[in-house]
Amino acid sequence: MAFKLSLNTQPFSGSALIHFYAKFRLPQNARKAFDEIIHRDEVCYGALIVGLAQNSRPLDAFSAFAEMKGCNVRSTIYTVSGALSAAGQMVALEHCRVIHGHAIVAGLDGNVVVGCTLIDGYGRVGHIVDARMVFDELLPGVNTVVWNAMMSVYAQHGDKSSVLGMYNAMQVEGLVPDRFTFLALLTAFCNAGLFLESEQWFQRMRMEYKIKPGLEHYKCLVGAMAGAGRLEEAEHIAMTMPFEPDAAVWRTLLSSCAYHGAVDKTCEMAKRLLELDPRDDSAYEIVANVLSAKGRWDEVAEMRKLMIYRRVKKKQGRSWIEVKGKVHVFLAEDRRHEKTEEIYSKLAELMEKIEKSGYVPVRDEMLLREDKREAHRYDSEKLALAFGVVAGAAPPGKALRIVKNLRICRDSHEAFKYFSRVMGREIIVRDANKCHRFLNGSCTCGGIW
Ligand code: ZN
Repeated sequence: MAFKLSLNTQPFSGSALIHFYAKFRLPQNARKAFDEIIHRDEVCYGALIVGLAQNSRPLDAFSAFAEMKGCNVRSTIYTVSGALSAAGQMVALEHCRVIHGHAIVAGLDGNVVVGCTLIDGYGRVGHIVDARMVFDELLPGVNTVVWNAMMSVYAQHGDKSSVLGMYNAMQVEGLVPDRFTFLALLTAFCNAGLFLESEQWFQRMRMEYKIKPGLEHYKCLVGAMAGAGRLEEAEHIAMTMPFEPDAAVWRTLLSSCAYHGAVDKTCEMAKRLLELDPRDDSAYEIVANVLSAKGRWDEVAEMRKLMIYRRVKKKQGRSWIEVKGKVHVFLAEDRRHEKTEEIYSKLAELMEKIEKSGYVPVRDEMLLREDKREAHRYDSEKLALAFGVVAGAAPPGKALRIVKNLRICRDSHEAFKYFSRVMGREIIVRDANKCHRFLNGSCTCGGIW
């Protein structure tokens, strides 16, 4: 490697190199640069842990954190916040708790950066009460950044009244809302499907607070409009906003058009999305499913051909669940786990229960296999759920938390609604796009994700 200079024996230069690789999205090189450092101090560990967490390598970030503790290297706000961010990405509650405890022992829990990452981490794992406790402990005298972190947690979970309550309380404290405060407000309204409020607050931010909306603010507005079925208006905003719409904007429009059964619009949005991201397998799948629902089989076949021609493969889904501080990862039809027998029989039992209460498997038209109805029976998220039940991932009555690296598939989404009802418990699935809370047979995403 060109950067393998004599620098790497000195901690400071080594950490600069780690930063460099992490910034350019080369986490493996960052790890290699770290491994070549002889005297590994807290600065090097900080650069590595933060770099790995920022590059979506939460498991690697964690093992680096464990390694650091094993070597008796002192914790800093960087190592603690990097490890917490990794815990948040994995939706690993026990890990969050352990690092929280570690931060208290190291005297770092009062730090604003650590506090914000803790709030974010607890928020991601769905423990809003813990996030709020951290926030309350940091009060009084905290700045807008901490308020925004807490508001963003409420917003992610669609709790718009708490976001609004905090917005008002913030003003009482004499703090001035900034672009992130408004982003939390708009996210909350978008997740709650309130397009009128979204528009009002968007204008308020511009006119009253003179804040220029960024792409993220526009995305919320597009999402709120599209979710409410105002597809033309949503598309108009996307086309006329002062930013080039990115793949995420078209993806939002695509899901909403499909949800509202606007077949031609769905095809149009998929075309736009595929121009930017031709390998997005979910776009082909969404279009094929919408077309098949209308009986347009020739076009379904064309979509399938196009996918084969472009050599687009379905990405491999991975789901994981944390049990007693350990993260268990599953692939579809995975049989590697030591409790495989128990997991499969628990899943069979659960499937039988939901079938009896009215669940019908959702067909996936993009699959070439014959048994389309059976194709999703052993999806990674279903296996993770069955394992969670077998292993007692949460006490009875408490929510089960699963994470998926991709978007939850339509069939699992349907099945999980029934699971939540027959099991009489809350199931939280954080997928690549959204946080789904299944309870009593319905999901907070309202069917659009
Ligand atoms: Zn959902």
